[in-house]
Amino acid sequence: MTKKVFKYLSFWLVIFLFSGVLSSLLRFTLKQWLLMIGVMSLATFGVVWVANFWESRQKQELKAMENRMVSTVAGGVPRGVLAEPDSPYYDLIRQFNEMQNFVQQAQQTAQRDVTNYRSLLASLPVGVININRAHTIDVFNETAAALLGIQRPETPISEGLVIRQFTLSELITQTFNSQKNQQSILNLQINGEMKQYEVSTLYHQGDLKHAEVMIIIYDLTSVLQVERMQSDFLANASHELKTPLTAITGFIETLQGQAGEDRTTREMFLDIVAQEAKRLSSLVNDILSLSRVQQKREAVHTELAIHDMVTEQWQHVMPLATTKSVTLRNDVADDFMIRGLKTDVDMILQNLIGNAVKYNVFGGDIHVTAYKDHQHWQLNVKDTGIGIPTNQQTRIFERFYRGDESRQRKIASGTGLGLAIVNEIVNKHNGEIKVQSQVAVGTTVSVTLPL
Ligand code: ADP
Repeated sequence: MTKKVFKYLSFWLVIFLFSGVLSSLLRFTLKQWLLMIGVMSLATFGVVWVANFWESRQKQELKAMENRMVSTVAGGVPRGVLAEPDSPYYDLIRQFNEMQNFVQQAQQTAQRDVTNYRSLLASLPVGVININRAHTIDVFNETAAALLGIQRPETPISEGLVIRQFTLSELITQTFNSQKNQQSILNLQINGEMKQYEVSTLYHQGDLKHAEVMIIIYDLTSVLQVERMQSDFLANASHELKTPLTAITGFIETLQGQAGEDRTTREMFLDIVAQEAKRLSSLVNDILSLSRVQQKREAVHTELAIHDMVTEQWQHVMPLATTKSVTLRNDVADDFMIRGLKTDVDMILQNLIGNAVKYNVFGGDIHVTAYKDHQHWQLNVKDTGIGIPTNQQTRIFERFYRGDESRQRKIASGTGLGLAIVNEIVNKHNGEIKVQSQVAVGTTVSVTLPL
């Protein structure tokens, strides 16, 4: 402000002196001199005012550009400045506006990329963690949190606060030290449960200062479990098949020797051979049934009359039922119809009714009922047999599992695959199977399937 006053005063002093010299040369009266000073002052101040006005307008345009730039740098939306065609900065402002436009588009693209990257990370079925040289985590996706059994932490966060498994942090350190990618299958204790993870570490760096390690974690637990189940199944199946085969070959060899000449021994041994051959054939049939159920091939659903299907299966077990004097009460209504796969429902009935006869007591009963609501139908097979001890009830669906009673006392022959097949069928249809049993009272097996 003082600068401005001083500027105006110096202008006025020049006018005063100049008009003084001019009026003494032209011999002006005091009145004429004063008039001249007035006119000259007015004209000069007018010109200065216009020049100032012009300058401040240009300054405003520069100031506006500066403000927009500061806001853009601070993360605001990049915006342009109004360009007046008569402004000396017209071209500069237009260039500035184009640059702001470009920055805005670049910002939008970057924002989109970040959103895509975040949702990709969040939906990845593998855990992803990125750690820098200072052992600070800057990427940690949802799957990694779930696999390590923790809440997803806010990043950046120190590695030590999140990765508590010794073998995992050792693998990370090893990757930093060796500067080489590593791969390992780790057994980790996660919230009290043992898990098997395949962990790959990727060493990546621009220069030495910025070395980073990306960790990819893949849950192998269920894959290894399936592999184990398959190899267990193979081992069990081979063992189960070998037992009757060994017996058959052994007895045939004996029969081929002197023992075969005795009629009683021959008949006894041939009986055993026939029994073992029957067992072998049941095993092969059950293994084939299990593999057919697992194939999940699409098949045609038809209208099934459950009452008639129960009666049909009963005919198949009639010989054993008659020997044991076991009776059937088929309480499924005649008109109880469902749509389903005939082979699967037959297989369920065959195994449940078969077991109800096999594990029943002499003179026992079997009661079959069925119900449905608008979403499911349920089949119940109840018997008055030997029952299943509580500690065995969870194991009876395992392949080749036979209850202690059935094995040791040889109550009934079987392969240990019947309930495993039923369970497989029920799972295939997203159904449910339940067992209620009491030793020496009886067992009820209930199968619920969606309609
Ligand atoms: P299997 O009958 O060939 O032994 P399953 O898989 O059908 O094989 O049954 C597994 C085991 O469950 C049987 O060995 C038996 O101990 C028990 N079990 C199944 N059904 C019954 C039942 N209704 N009553 C008593 N025990 C049963």
